[in-house]
Amino acid sequence: MSDEPLLAARDLTKHFPVKGAGRRVVHAVDGIDIELHAGEVVALVGESGSGKSTVARLLAKLMPNTAGDVLFDGRRVTARFGRKFRAYCRRVQMILQDPFASLNPIHRVRYVLTRSLTIHRGRMTTDERERMLRELLERVDLTPPERYLEKFPHELSGGQRQRVAIARALGADPEVLLADEPVSMLDVSIRIGVLNLLRDLKDRFHLAVLYITHDIASARYFADRTLVMYAGQIVERGPSEAVTQHPRHPYTQLLIASAPDADRLEELEKTEATGEPPSLISPPTGCRFHPRCPFAMERCRTEAPPMFAGDDGQESACWLYADDAAAEREAAFGAKEPGAAQA
Ligand code: SF4
Repeated sequence: MSDEPLLAARDLTKHFPVKGAGRRVVHAVDGIDIELHAGEVVALVGESGSGKSTVARLLAKLMPNTAGDVLFDGRRVTARFGRKFRAYCRRVQMILQDPFASLNPIHRVRYVLTRSLTIHRGRMTTDERERMLRELLERVDLTPPERYLEKFPHELSGGQRQRVAIARALGADPEVLLADEPVSMLDVSIRIGVLNLLRDLKDRFHLAVLYITHDIASARYFADRTLVMYAGQIVERGPSEAVTQHPRHPYTQLLIASAPDADRLEELEKTEATGEPPSLISPPTGCRFHPRCPFAMERCRTEAPPMFAGDDGQESACWLYADDAAAEREAAFGAKEPGAAQA
């Protein structure tokens, strides 16, 4: 994996105006940093409404950001139309949640893939195009290609449709895939196959993949690094194994407790938080998680926590990890602090 990020977001912010509410805005994404390197999968995990899909659209430049920057290969991306924008779209492709909605039902697979090749690769001979169509289907394990080329979307299973959507993205010869909940609408039995395909493509073509999901368990399985998002902000990040096995932030602990692993139930029971995600029009002051957090302290209500570095590259935006909060930390977690196993 390269040291330099291929795609990065710095202080990325998106506020949506609220219709008829004067200057009030929805704080969908507030000052987040992300780095995607070639040859790695990064999971962006959070509940629905946390802002994670907005992040994907901002990175794809499908909407303007309110503040902050998107950088590709170290350069700010500013184009939103024209030749430069098309060049960016070719390098950064999105895969959407619903493969049925993303494929036009009146077009055969051949048309869908030919269009992607024509838009992104330009003119080619008939022989070249036929060869590339077959190659694209083989890359997503739809073989033999002849069996799929003339099919309409409704003649394919959900998993096959998502594979066609992935092949369409690969038609652009991208360097980054932004996969927004790519398996959440598929049967459980075929999710692993599609995730394995994405991981295999990442390895073979050295792609950077952003995997957006509400399922933190799949992040452990699939992603090298995991970022946890709550109410428009990143609250925890680090290697997936560390974040999912030794969650430090109370919100990450809540996510994991909601997708329980039998071995960890007892340990996580006491950290169970309650309540709903907050309004993003008037987000809570201080730590945005404080109205739901069982460990909230006085300063959590007034001061936003910075990222505190733990072991093994893990960072958590939580006051419990401040140097002067040892007593509160012990009261919250007892002698066995989260992350202690890595120390
Ligand atoms: Fe809970 Fe405070 Fe940590 Fe926020 S900063 S997660 S309210 S303990």
